[in-house]
This record gives sequence, C-alpha cells and structure tokens, in this order.
Amino acid sequence: MSQPRKTRKDLKPGEVACDYCTARCCRYFALPIDTPATRTDFDHIRWYMLHGRVAIFVDDETWYLMVHADCKHIRDDYMCGIYEDRPAICRKYTTDECEFEDDAVYDKFFETPEQLWEYAEAMLPHKFPQPRPSEIALPVLGAV
Ligand code: SF4
Ligand code: SF4
Repeated sequence: MSQPRKTRKDLKPGEVACDYCTARCCRYFALPIDTPATRTDFDHIRWYMLHGRVAIFVDDETWYLMVHADCKHIRDDYMCGIYEDRPAICRKYTTDECEFEDDAVYDKFFETPEQLWEYAEAMLPHKFPQPRPSEIALPVLGAV
C-alpha cells in the first residue's frame, strides 16, 4: 500500500516541503494569455492544445497557457542540478503557496482541447447564434 502524501502540517521543524516533493514546480512553465472573448479566440487556444502537453488554467481572472515540460536540471533525487546558478524565476518561487500538496488548484483548468471547446460552446452560443435551417438560403438551381 502506498504511503499517504505528506502535507505541510506533517513537516517537522527544519524540514522543507521540497524534501518530500518530486519537483512538481519544475515540470511545467506557464505564460499569461489574453482572455478569450470570441469563438476565434477559443479556436486559437484550441490549436495550442492540439499540440499536446499543453493545458490552460485561469487564476484570479488571468488565463495562462501551461506547457508540461521537465526542466533539464531536475536531478534523479528531484533536487535542482544547478541550484547555485538557477534562474531568477526559480529563486523567487517559494513553498508558501506552491503545489506541494495540491493538485490543480486553479479557478478553471482545461486539460484537453475538448474540455476547452465544451466550455466555449457553453459560454458563447448566445453571442454567436447559429442560423436556423429555415434561415439558410439555399442556392436555387436554374435561378437567374
Ligand atoms: S517549491 Fe513546492 S512544488 Fe516546488 S519542489 Fe518545492 S515543494 Fe515541490
Ligand atoms: S533550474 Fe532548478 S529550480 Fe529551476 S526549474 Fe530547473 S530544476 Fe527547478
């Protein structure tokens, strides 16, 4: 039977969460993107996601493109292989609000293009009404 996952409250004095983590924060990067407002915007995001290893999350009303990609410097023991020379973004990151004991804790999280499109369809149809069949003008053969 596997051990229950450690949480922050299980840490003893002097221990740090990273000692019990598989470097979760070093396995992706995320960039803010414009909030999608139109069907075309959602379609562009869907295209990003079709490339795989890409997710979308929303936090505090900002949309992010998340790319799952392990940093090349994660060591076999999940520690940083270039700790003294790690980038500033890694230095600024702290365990205070990291994902140590949480899975996706975002306001919204889309893991597949299908999930995103389902959301878009639910949010947008009133803005992009589809024409009813009776409103579609069909070409009339022989018309001049
Ligand atoms: S900062 Fe958090 S997510 Fe990153 S390695 Fe440490 S415990 Fe894991
Ligand atoms: S440089 Fe080190 S701390 Fe930064 S993402 Fe890579 S392994 Fe993690």
